[in-house]
Amino acid sequence: MEALIFDTHRGTSHDGEGLRTTFFFQGCPLRCRWCHNPEGIPLQPYIKWGARKCIGCHTCVKVCPGKILEFTETGLAIDRRHCTRCGVCTKRCPSKALQITAREWTVDELVEYALKDKHFYDVFKGGVTFSGGEATLHIPFILEAAERLQASGINVALDTSGYCTPELFESAFLSFDYILFDLKIADTDLHKKFTGTANELILKNLACICRKKKNSEYIGEVWIRTPIIPHATDSEENILSIAEIIKAYGDVINRWELCAFNNMCKNKYRTLGITWEYMEVDLLPHSHMQSLYRIAKRALEDLVPVVSTGLTAQDR
Ligand code: SF4
Ligand code: SF4
Repeated sequence: MEALIFDTHRGTSHDGEGLRTTFFFQGCPLRCRWCHNPEGIPLQPYIKWGARKCIGCHTCVKVCPGKILEFTETGLAIDRRHCTRCGVCTKRCPSKALQITAREWTVDELVEYALKDKHFYDVFKGGVTFSGGEATLHIPFILEAAERLQASGINVALDTSGYCTPELFESAFLSFDYILFDLKIADTDLHKKFTGTANELILKNLACICRKKKNSEYIGEVWIRTPIIPHATDSEENILSIAEIIKAYGDVINRWELCAFNNMCKNKYRTLGITWEYMEVDLLPHSHMQSLYRIAKRALEDLVPVVSTGLTAQDR
């Protein structure tokens, strides 16, 4: 069994409890306008080009079977509609300026890779996180991998947008130790505007996993995560509305994380040749993030711990 994975992070402390290894699975049903992992959105990987590494030999132009590469004033232009991702250009590029953004992994390979850090998981109470893209697009793979990791004494977290068939939250996902559930925008029209999808299904799945937890059919932890994005999710109204949703489930939710926007993915957009509307958007001012954190905390009245994460900018 194989799945496309576009990135791995070892020793991360951002994707669940303790120190973890995160695997980023290819493909996502949402189109969040601020997405930090644009290479993970389509079901197939991209060919990316790094101007700094390119030595201008034009080998790629000559070897591309479809003749879809061309040097222009702004660099290498790739006609992506006709790229078959055959990989000929990436293999022949002498300086690795051309690369493919994801590759197939087997479950064996993933387990072996994750086991390298078993000692750190044990010491720092960490484990493995399946993220994306949307890891739930790879159900058989992630379930088998989770079972194998747990059999080796490693806890496994599922980081999800919640946008998948409800049956999965009814049964399949109950084996995960943590569900990191994204709740970005409470208002369904705004959710659709900023992510390309309405949020009814997401809210239904959240209700399901919370009900399962209340009935002790799910014994893992549920963390809500809200990306705080300038002029999209960062309004007081949105934070208060999400707080109302969380309050309705009470203490079955273990934690609410407010994750500050960051723009460190700029270069990804550049190398993929994609325009990003947040390219010039700065980090959130520290005071704004603190204010939203206080609003969230007050609204939940200590029912659920609230945590603020991520980089912020100094106030001017
Ligand atoms: S992956 Fe294949 S089709 Fe796409 S640009 Fe490279 S050589 Fe051409
Ligand atoms: S083969 Fe690689 S180094 Fe040569 S022109 Fe193409 S991208 Fe640049």
